[in-house]
Amino acid sequence: MRRSKNSPKKEAQGCATKPQRPTYLDCNATTPVDERVKDVVLHYLTEEYANAGSRTHEYGTRCKQAVEHARDQVGAVVNAAREDVIFTSGATESNNLAILGLAPHGEATGRKHIVSTQIEHKSVLEPLGELRERGFDLTLLPPTEGGWIEPECLRRALRPETLLVSMMHVNNETGTIQDISAFSSVLAGHDAFFHVDAAQSYGKLVPGLDDRRIDLISVSAHKLYAPKGVGALITRKRNFSRPPLKPIMHGGGQERGLRPGTLPVALIAGFGHAAELAAREARERRDATVAFRADLLATLRNAGDFEFNGSQERSVPHTLNLSFTGIDSEALLVALKDTLALSNGSACTSQSYAASHVLEAMKLAPERIRSAVRLSWCHLTVRPDWERVVQAIKQLR
Ligand code: PMP
Repeated sequence: MRRSKNSPKKEAQGCATKPQRPTYLDCNATTPVDERVKDVVLHYLTEEYANAGSRTHEYGTRCKQAVEHARDQVGAVVNAAREDVIFTSGATESNNLAILGLAPHGEATGRKHIVSTQIEHKSVLEPLGELRERGFDLTLLPPTEGGWIEPECLRRALRPETLLVSMMHVNNETGTIQDISAFSSVLAGHDAFFHVDAAQSYGKLVPGLDDRRIDLISVSAHKLYAPKGVGALITRKRNFSRPPLKPIMHGGGQERGLRPGTLPVALIAGFGHAAELAAREARERRDATVAFRADLLATLRNAGDFEFNGSQERSVPHTLNLSFTGIDSEALLVALKDTLALSNGSACTSQSYAASHVLEAMKLAPERIRSAVRLSWCHLTVRPDWERVVQAIKQLR
């Protein structure tokens, strides 16, 4: 695999928000692409454009090698092997494959109970809804007011016929971290498959998903400074066998028959490189997001009263969900639009103006939900003009 010579400094300049544009604080929706990742992607788009499935020439061989190298890089972040990694188009597809792909096994064995949570991403909740239509029984665990799930709730929900437990690691709206190892402990000795939607944590909470009790992990490249359109489902062996998944699409037999279709080599190579960089630079990236958070909080405190939605103690350092008392979120977004690009919910549900199902599940008061905004940043985020931010918020009071 070709290595980029770009330094992290060049990367930061390349991905930084340009001065005249609002500062991008929507990194949980998607991240900027790292310059070094971009170089890898461009190389495979322009120089090594073969089909990784072509076995009759060296172009194909080189692309296959690039894909296998990326498989190693993506797996290594969660201590998984090359064979464990199934490339998909992103975490939505990975979640669908994990959930719908296990259903035939549940139907065949009479294990038709699934446990998940009320705060999952729609790409988990909607396939689960499909399975309910097919006769599965769902238990959706409620969060605490701070947005986490008590492991004891899982213990109470488990039944002998529970097929699957599907739980997100970090919530995309609040940044709250679920205690995955506590859930693994609850599942010790139970047969249920354990799926973790790690779209928001993969490569950011390092190490974090090494636990061998986790059978399936969904990840997405575009949350990790790589392009949109690629992700993976990591499928681990437990007691020498893998989760008995069936494909949800049919075609060419790629990816162990679980995900047919010509592999997007350039995207996969970029994803692999991004995974390796994330593991290598985890600590400095984290330090940068912690420092940004401190500045941001100091600024916001100057702008008036607000409440944290979620738990500060149990949250990733690059996300804040908060409600400014008495200020509607739409008004805040408009007031700040020339300074900050932020959001008042998940980008995936922003077509509808429905209240956040996550904040509702946390039982926050309706006016607090109406005021809620999400700010999410990353190690590449350049500091905005803090004084302008304070002034814009103060004018709304
Ligand atoms: N799960 C979570 C927790 C997410 O935040 C997202 C992206 N918003 C997804 C799944 C879907 O990921 P993708 O965009 O790669 O399909």
